[in-house]
Amino acid sequence: MITEERIFIAGAGPVGMVAAAYLVHCGIPVTVFEASPQLGRQSRASTFHPPTLDMLDDLGVADALIATGRKAPRLQYRSKSAGVIAAFDFAAIADATRHPYRLQSEQFNLTRIVDAKLRGHANYRLEFGKRICNVRQDPTGVTVRLASAHGTEERRGRWLIGADGARSEVRKALDVEFEGFTWPERFLVVGTPFDFYSVMPGLDAVSYVADPVQWHFLLQLPTMWRVMFPIALDIDDATATSDEFAQSALATVVPGVAKYDIAHITLYRVHQRVAKSFRVGRVFLVGDAAHINNPLGGMGMNGGIHDAVNLARRLSGVWRGEAVEHELDRFAQQRRLITLEYVQKHTIENKRNLEAHDRGEQARFRDALQKIAGDTQLTRDYLLRVSMIASLQRAAELG
Ligand SMILES: Cc1cc2nc3c(=O)[nH]c(=O)nc-3n(C[C@H](O)[C@H](O)[C@H](O)COP(=O)(O)OP(=O)(O)OC[C@H]3O[C@@H](n4cnc5c(N)ncnc54)[C@H](O)[C@@H]3O)c2cc1C
Repeated sequence: MITEERIFIAGAGPVGMVAAAYLVHCGIPVTVFEASPQLGRQSRASTFHPPTLDMLDDLGVADALIATGRKAPRLQYRSKSAGVIAAFDFAAIADATRHPYRLQSEQFNLTRIVDAKLRGHANYRLEFGKRICNVRQDPTGVTVRLASAHGTEERRGRWLIGADGARSEVRKALDVEFEGFTWPERFLVVGTPFDFYSVMPGLDAVSYVADPVQWHFLLQLPTMWRVMFPIALDIDDATATSDEFAQSALATVVPGVAKYDIAHITLYRVHQRVAKSFRVGRVFLVGDAAHINNPLGGMGMNGGIHDAVNLARRLSGVWRGEAVEHELDRFAQQRRLITLEYVQKHTIENKRNLEAHDRGEQARFRDALQKIAGDTQLTRDYLLRVSMIASLQRAAELG
């Protein structure tokens, strides 16, 4: 079998497409194999953090993405009983990023913008309807088996980036464990064009609402708000995804509003898992294939894009003979450590804080947030952390 002088990428989600964009930008030929017949269009991640926008800007795709979204220059915490607890303005970190705001835009906008930018480029190929179902490797290349509507075929390239999502077949083929746990509750996301500003004084476009019975959060996208609720074990999937149930959940957000227009309802199971290794020889795991977490803080896709940029930078050095292969172990060790120390830790903490049942815990959370909001240096440190800049600074320290 001939070896294609290319880097193979499994999956055309946001992470695989950013890896492709970075490599093509560096003059490296890539082929992306995507199992589906087209780019995904599901409502999933909708938050882009400031350093992610900086990275996308370096690839020439941030402006087009920003044009599809809504800028959220502030984020706030509320409690159902006390209203706004604390609010934070990203202006406090304007010296650390070219984009001092969160951008709220659907992840499917990014994949389309990247594809449009790369299409026609000699080094870019995207093959739809090709599912990687097996992986073999030797010291000089990687062979993937691809299943398609026409049967199966084998192709051999130099390296493989597994960006094929949470159920990654690349990860399974490598026999890498996906360690962690699944939360008992599911998460319900309801989209509505309702104008929450008209009934919630002082509301910001990103608002986390703590409550011992039903915490939730509100995110504003250009044409709708997205409200996310935890769903208890005793409510079955059919009930939880019914219009009636969505109405009853929304009715708990603001007293007195009885009927909402509903744009979409999504129910999903949430896990906290990290692959035991992000590299096996010539194959790498990035994005959801390497780690998954709850959506509190919007760190899943963002962390995945940070993996893609970190790996593609090192891989391009190795491809051009400017760096030794040991560089690639650094990607694996660094990003895994950051995922454990930072993404997993903070997303779990965020959930525990919002759902705190105990009055003492609730008061501690409120007091801690108010102390941070009242102090310039603490606010700055806090915003560097929630915007994921601190995690990238930590990664840079690790080398
Ligand atoms: C409802 C919901 C809300 C979310 N909200 C947020 C949020 O606000 N912020 C945030 O940061 N994250 C959020 N996430 C998580 C976020 O969507 C993921 O972290 C993100 O999609 C990961 O991107 P990815 O490219 O790694 O994987 P995916 O987006 O899952 O893309 C994987 C791609 O690989 C393809 N594929 C799968 N198997 C194969 C195979 N064997 N061969 C070839 N192709 C294959 C799939 O078709 C897909 O196109 C949310 C997730 C959900 C479900």
